[in-house]
Amino acid sequence: MGLATFKGGVHPFEGKELSMDKPVTQLKPTSGEMVYPLSQHIGAPAKPLVKVGDEVLVGQKIADAGGFISAVVNCSVSGKVKKIEPRIMVNGSKVMSIIVENDGEYRAVEGLGEDRDPASLSKADIREIVKQAGIVGLGGAGFPTNVKITPKDENAIDYVIVNGAECEPYLTCDYRMMLEEPERLVGGLKIMLQLFDNAKGVIGIENNKPQAIAKMKEMVKDEPRIEVCELLTKYPQGGERSLIYAVTGRAINSSMLPADAGCVVDNVNTVMAIYDAVAKRTPILERVVTITGDAIAEPQNFKVRTGMNYNDIIAAAGGFKTEPAKILSGGPMMGQSIFTTDVPVTKNSSSLTCFTVDEVEKYKETPCIRCGRCVSACPEFLVPVLMMSECRKRNLEGFEALEGMECIECGSCAFICPARRPLTQAFKEMKREVGALRRKRAEEAKAKAAAEAAEKGKEDAKK
Ligand code: SF4
Ligand code: SF4
Repeated sequence: MGLATFKGGVHPFEGKELSMDKPVTQLKPTSGEMVYPLSQHIGAPAKPLVKVGDEVLVGQKIADAGGFISAVVNCSVSGKVKKIEPRIMVNGSKVMSIIVENDGEYRAVEGLGEDRDPASLSKADIREIVKQAGIVGLGGAGFPTNVKITPKDENAIDYVIVNGAECEPYLTCDYRMMLEEPERLVGGLKIMLQLFDNAKGVIGIENNKPQAIAKMKEMVKDEPRIEVCELLTKYPQGGERSLIYAVTGRAINSSMLPADAGCVVDNVNTVMAIYDAVAKRTPILERVVTITGDAIAEPQNFKVRTGMNYNDIIAAAGGFKTEPAKILSGGPMMGQSIFTTDVPVTKNSSSLTCFTVDEVEKYKETPCIRCGRCVSACPEFLVPVLMMSECRKRNLEGFEALEGMECIECGSCAFICPARRPLTQAFKEMKREVGALRRKRAEEAKAKAAAEAAEKGKEDAKK
């Protein structure tokens, strides 16, 4: 039988050799400002629980979840709250943030890091611990994990899938953690399986990581509920929909959740964070980031405290060899171009990729030659060439009719296009506009229904 995979996709240059053989380096700042944005996740911003002048400890909850889809923020150092003000995030937006002056003493809340037996906990206990630990999807999505592990019907979940594909070129933080701390991954997965009685655990890893596959197979050989699934190396194999299809043969679309296909999917470092929270009484205080690209002197992975400034991490990687022409938060396929590195590491920032050449600037767009390569590459079976025509006409309805909202913004079509058309960028913008249009339509429908109900009420009163 062949390796598990999905239909479509592309094979971009991997670039992983820059950092994949270097052990993860721990960085711990001794002083300076730590910045904790209140939006490091999808959903409502967190609400501050501290004020300027308060003393804070490592592991202390400094902001509470601001709604059902939201996440707690915990402090990763000890010190004093210096300011609460908007600060620039890696995506360029300004977000209200708690600024703590790190005293370098790392005084911690009571019990932090102490062992706890997961078997002694109920399912509700585990979900609450994950919530209070502020865990979100560390692969970049930032979706609150406690929501993900609380589906409507937990008995309908038959797969807990660990996303170890790491298909994004240049990134190696998941790979290194599977090699260096596999016990945390297996421990976290076993805790997740405690929540889902009918599920088996599957760790999906692309076959360009044979050492990680061998390590994880060795680790789970005596675990009857866990197996390793070897995936064909192909981008976007680590996309949630692609991974679910590769492992289970089930397809989901934008109106469905993985749970609708009986799956819960979490990235390697997220599962490790679940282990830390439940078995080691440690919320998210640090994460692993890849600092890489041909502009970086010594590309490698670092384990860093959340809130730390990216400039300090770049300096620890030897700084820039050459002034970068482009810096991406994330990898070259799905990463976002950034204009400053004076930004904090957040829970969902996985990497900086720094290039000496800006490939987008280097090659100019030419007319479409109708080659159809974008269609073959699309993992969602869309027709990017036609979607692009609707984008150019700003025809929102036409874009919707072509199922444009199913686009996962993976970048495969733009990568393969010989005419260098900015397909993905156009689709991202169009999706935002269609999303706004759909919200407007929903509000209008609601207002119309309310007006009709009021009218009917008046007529009934007259009778
Ligand atoms: S249309 Fe969207 S989902 Fe399809 S290849 Fe392009 S970016 Fe990916
Ligand atoms: S890959 Fe580019 S050139 Fe080919 S059909 Fe698609 S948009 Fe046109």
